[in-house]
Amino acid sequence: MSARELLRAVVATEADVFGVRRQGRQLAAGLGLENQDQIRVAAALSETGRRLLPLGRVTVIFALEAPQPALLFAATVAADVDEEFVAALAVTRGLMDRWSVEREPGRTTVMMARRVPDKAATLTDDQLGALRTEVVSAQTGTPLEELAEHNRQLLATLGEVQTQRDELLRLNAELEETNRGVLALYTELSEELEATNRGVVALYAELEERSAQLRAASEAKTRFLANVTHELRSPVSSITGLTRLLRDPLSDPLSAEQSQQLDLIDASSRSLLTLVNDLLDLAKAESGRVEPAIEDTDLRPIFTTLRGTLRAAPRSADTSLVVDDPVGVPVIHTDPIMLAQVLRNLLTNALKFTPDGEVRLTATVDGAWVALAVSDTGIGIPEAEQDRVFEEFHQVRNHLQASAQGTGLGLAYARRLAEALGGTLELASEVGRGSTFTLRLPVGGPADARPDQPISVLLVDDDDTFRGAAAQVLRGCGFGVREAADGRTALAAIAARPPDVVLLDLRLAELDGFAVIEALEADERLRSIPVVVVTAYRADVVDTAELRHAVAVLDKTSTTLDDLCGVVVLTARRRG
Ligand code: ADP
Repeated sequence: MSARELLRAVVATEADVFGVRRQGRQLAAGLGLENQDQIRVAAALSETGRRLLPLGRVTVIFALEAPQPALLFAATVAADVDEEFVAALAVTRGLMDRWSVEREPGRTTVMMARRVPDKAATLTDDQLGALRTEVVSAQTGTPLEELAEHNRQLLATLGEVQTQRDELLRLNAELEETNRGVLALYTELSEELEATNRGVVALYAELEERSAQLRAASEAKTRFLANVTHELRSPVSSITGLTRLLRDPLSDPLSAEQSQQLDLIDASSRSLLTLVNDLLDLAKAESGRVEPAIEDTDLRPIFTTLRGTLRAAPRSADTSLVVDDPVGVPVIHTDPIMLAQVLRNLLTNALKFTPDGEVRLTATVDGAWVALAVSDTGIGIPEAEQDRVFEEFHQVRNHLQASAQGTGLGLAYARRLAEALGGTLELASEVGRGSTFTLRLPVGGPADARPDQPISVLLVDDDDTFRGAAAQVLRGCGFGVREAADGRTALAAIAARPPDVVLLDLRLAELDGFAVIEALEADERLRSIPVVVVTAYRADVVDTAELRHAVAVLDKTSTTLDDLCGVVVLTARRRG
């Protein structure tokens, strides 16, 4: 930074104070300082001059600083000053951009500077020379004239300040108006959000109530079935018993017609007894009263027995039954009698509905599960019926149905047994090509997959505070909770032990929530795990198309932690 001297003046009398004051103001005006700044410079100079003059002659040097242009002035007096004097001088500090006092023995200099505004034109050397001449040659007026000039400038400045204040007031009013608008919008939005929230809560309550009603109805049906069936069994048993007695060689001989009628009674009562027994089994299974007798079970003897007993099952001569040896399948922890019952049921059905082709039983291992598949190349089941065949008494209308014996209870019962064993029974079928019923059982037994185990939740959120609080609430509701702070850890945890429900934040490190959803979607094994997105993103920002896997999207800012328990129960139940 360099400074170029513009002018030097001496203050030896009171009148000289007015002189430097005028010179300072003129230089400031010439260099392009604004009106208010000119007054500041003039006031600082006259005040400094006035205070230093009693100490002796004051030399004032005006200079122009570069490259960042500023008007500098240094007022020097050959005297020492004390701290108190410096403090008194400092009244002008606030008028300047830079202000300092340099004290050497026998000499005191007050340095002051005011910046030239950027918009001011830079003066050439010639213009600076002309300005200096103008300032030096100008006459300093009498103190009265200076005072008048001073007043005129002050008035002009006051006018400017007033305009600025008016502008400020106007801006303030505008700001207040905007503020009111924002507040109104906020209130409106909050109310809307609250209304939506209330709607969601009401919906959940209704869902809860509906599922409670459904549960009650289903329990009533089961009770009814169990009671009626139980009452029916004794009379039907009596009929079969009495029929047997009538046919006893020791009883009175029967006419040919009586004997024929008795055959009909016998056949009818036997099929009635089968139906009643099937119903009783099903009612027992539905009320959860089937207690599997779990033991280490080798599939080979079961397969051998099925191969033998089903040789005589009703079927077309053109259909072959193939029971593959369960090679490489470990001993599984299950109830062998129930397992055989389910497989026999599936194989009998397959033989019934395969007029020409093959029925095959295979067993394969899939991680901790064994998959037992009964596939046939029979008539198949239309897609619209595939869920319904698992309902009680549902039979598909087809040309084989009339000749096929059956009650429509077999698959309903088989699925109950599969569930009691901790497994699942699923169907894939295509009309004209055949069906495959797959029974999946946990190798480790029902305890490995017991449905009444606590619901397991994986909570994925990078916000430690929220995650901690939510985990505590969820544990309080009796769920098994695991936590993950980023997307990659979450995927690893899901793959290691799939949870019943995933609560997923979207903004995550490593892999974000969208990527986690995409990865789950791509994995056949994990696709069915329900994901509830819990996010602070505004709903309209979230692209729901990218969240196709998610069953719900909750707004973190409006969902209370207590809501989470209800959401988890409903989501897990929906999956179940
Ligand atoms: P049912 O005693 O009538 O066999 P199920 O509950 O075992 O009762 O089966 C219900 C219905 O599902 C059957 O009546 C039949 O229409 C259909 N079904 C079952 N298994 C097969 C199969 N392998 N192929 C075609 N249809 C089948």
